[in-house]
Amino acid sequence: MAERAFAKRLGVVRLRMNAAPSTNVIDLRSDTVSRPTQEMRRVMAEAVVGDDVLGDDPTVIALQDKFAALLGKEAACFVPTGTMANQAAIRAQTEPGDEIICHEGGHIIHYETGSPAALSGCMVRPLAGDRGIFDVADVEGAMRPDNIHSPHSKLLIIENTHNRGGGSVWPIEQLERVAKRGRELGLRVHMDGARLWNACAATGLAPKDYAKNFDTVSCCFSKGLGCPAGSAVAGDKATISRVHRFVKMFGGKMRQSGVLAAAALYALDNHRARLTQDHANARRLATLLAQCPGLAIDPEQRERGPETNMVFVAVDKATGLTAAQVCERVKAKGVLILPNSPQRIRAVCHLDVSAAQIEEAGNRVREVMTGLLAAAR
Ligand SMILES: *Cc1c(COP(=O)(O)O)cnc(C)c1O
Repeated sequence: MAERAFAKRLGVVRLRMNAAPSTNVIDLRSDTVSRPTQEMRRVMAEAVVGDDVLGDDPTVIALQDKFAALLGKEAACFVPTGTMANQAAIRAQTEPGDEIICHEGGHIIHYETGSPAALSGCMVRPLAGDRGIFDVADVEGAMRPDNIHSPHSKLLIIENTHNRGGGSVWPIEQLERVAKRGRELGLRVHMDGARLWNACAATGLAPKDYAKNFDTVSCCFSKGLGCPAGSAVAGDKATISRVHRFVKMFGGKMRQSGVLAAAALYALDNHRARLTQDHANARRLATLLAQCPGLAIDPEQRERGPETNMVFVAVDKATGLTAAQVCERVKAKGVLILPNSPQRIRAVCHLDVSAAQIEEAGNRVREVMTGLLAAAR
């Protein structure tokens, strides 16, 4: 029957859509590369939708309510990206000329195209600290005096987990102490929780445990949770209503975005618990990579190993190789990893990479490094 032939063909198309570009390639560039699963695609296809700019997409509303409740906040706003989540939260809580305090390795400094300056007219005061983590005294030391000369210290941003810090998890007592002190000093306090789900999986704490002393919290659905797109910001009603306004201003208000919100709702229910597998894979990958000649665990991860799903390795300078050169050669063997600085490589575990593929990736990298070092001799 034509119908059955068509259904069969549709089945083939489905399979192709979901298949990796090449089954041989192991993609560890980021957890953002994970593709929506078949079941996630089904809930997206069946999502009940409206017009979110007019405020009546029921699936977006359901996601915003669920996200706000998870974080123990009054309200939330669904946005296309984590960058927009951070930037709308910054814009909603600052004025031009204000100063933002955050760690010197912060995502908002390195990977958001200068948007605090471009979109909010803010300066950023960078703080030092191991693994992206700082303490009360660092914040106190960065506070500007209230006079006619200084910018206003206005917003404190804490990143948890910390990306450039090695996917590190803020100890909860320290997080509470720093956020509380920030508020006492009159600062607004925002959490860039792009990977807060990973922190929760690593410690067993709930998102609202981490969010307690924060005015706003942003989280990504498009990373470890495996959604094709989407992030959200939670906070009090007045602040989130300003966030909605600036998301519209930045061009990020979408219409039938319930299709994307459905993926996020599905992921919150089904993909959070499995993050511990990514963490176990990351620890195993770190062990395998550390055994490769010319590579070593990055100093920031040496003491604890990977705390979540990110692995950082250092390329020994004595090899005469840069991180970029190693990544290029490893790519030719079907393992995708990225240089993070001249001698540092990042690999990220996610739901499209199995434990067996981690073993395979380790083997391929070892072969490449052994070959490179033999050639150099
Ligand atoms: C990925 C990430 C973001 C947001 O990135 P988008 O690509 O814009 O979604 C924000 N903060 C941190 C720490 C991140 O890792």
